[in-house]
Amino acid sequence: MEFRSFLIKYAEIGVKGKNRGIFEDALVRQIRNALKRCEGEFFVRRTRGRVYVEVLSETYDYEETVEGLKTVFGIAQICPMIELKDEGFDQLCEAVISYMGEAYPDKNLTFKVNTRRARKDYPMESMAVNSEIGGVLLDAYPEMKVDVHHPDVMLNIEIREKIYVYSIEISGPGGMPVGTNGKGMLLLSGGIDSPVAGWMIAKRGVKIDAVYFHAPPYTSDRAKQKVVDLARKVAKYSGPIWLHVINFTDIQLYIYEKCPHEELTIIMRRYMMRIAEQIAADTECLGLITGESIGQVASQTMQSLAATNEVCHMPVYRPLIGMDKQEIINIAERIDTYETSILPYEDCCTIFVAKHPVTKPNLNVIRKHEHNLDEKIGELVQTALDTKELIVVEA
Ligand code: ATP
Ligand code: MG
Repeated sequence: MEFRSFLIKYAEIGVKGKNRGIFEDALVRQIRNALKRCEGEFFVRRTRGRVYVEVLSETYDYEETVEGLKTVFGIAQICPMIELKDEGFDQLCEAVISYMGEAYPDKNLTFKVNTRRARKDYPMESMAVNSEIGGVLLDAYPEMKVDVHHPDVMLNIEIREKIYVYSIEISGPGGMPVGTNGKGMLLLSGGIDSPVAGWMIAKRGVKIDAVYFHAPPYTSDRAKQKVVDLARKVAKYSGPIWLHVINFTDIQLYIYEKCPHEELTIIMRRYMMRIAEQIAADTECLGLITGESIGQVASQTMQSLAATNEVCHMPVYRPLIGMDKQEIINIAERIDTYETSILPYEDCCTIFVAKHPVTKPNLNVIRKHEHNLDEKIGELVQTALDTKELIVVEA
């Protein structure tokens, strides 16, 4: 049995009223992008609230295509369909019998036939097709039963220029198509959390750019490569990511020299947020995104988050805020970032950490100690921005 087309079902974006066209166009665009990575040639089209993918090339890779479609936010279900020329009702019956025969080796099931007739000149009405096909299937497979209320298998028959038959629904990732909800700047480290945070916000239709702070020679090129690799994995879902790499070494050393070491992480995080916000503003991002989660480490207590947040003017989106580590890991595994995240290369947060970092920073004290940096910090931040490297990361 060969599936040559797919019906793409979407949930949320169906209810957007006047904006529906914009959402559907974005969905079609993202499906086309995802399919570029798959072997074969495809035609993606939308008609009256439905999106179809048709295979044009002689051959294609079914598994790879389904995997590709599973990376497109906005897709609720992927339904592989068989496609028939209209060569009379007897042919249709035969095709449906062999479809059910192949698709369901275990015939101990209940089913319902659901026909939609888009072409009104088809000689039979939908109800008649339902009952005829139902009868034919019961004759062919006596173990099967009809259940019109809660069938195990909903056998859909769509009569258009061609006839489409489908019953399999593969779950898509849900969410909304990327490009329908502005752009955000992800603070992407090499850890487990931030790639998941980026993925979660992209799932809401937000385009993602990213900033990574590295500290050579304290952090290695391999640590940076790891971040690029993580960005590539997220880009499979989010589309291309512009990754801004900031050399943070001199800023970090200066903070280390001038401020109490227990406050280093907090002050460093405040500078990361300030710099990220500046790049975000220059690149039309509407918010920052981090992988923070309350209480996970000293720099993520409520007090620490308040101190980090204080320097930001843009909204900071922290999609993992209420999640446990295991819940975050479960997503990281699902989106295939986990194995990369746990590679051992250190990121710059872990190099200069104090033995006993403050867990309840006092904002007035932090502000006061930041004044120790007044002499050179402005210049150092400017140099860091001027020397940033841009890497365009594609899946
Ligand atoms: P992650 O697993 O995402 O690294 P974490 O649990 O290690 O998070 P922290 O190191 O406290 O937590 O960092 C909190 C957040 O700050 C990260 O999720 C990330 O968004 C941002 N961040 C931390 N270090 C960097 C870095 N070197 N470059 C860019 N962003 C960073
Ligand atoms: Mg980290």
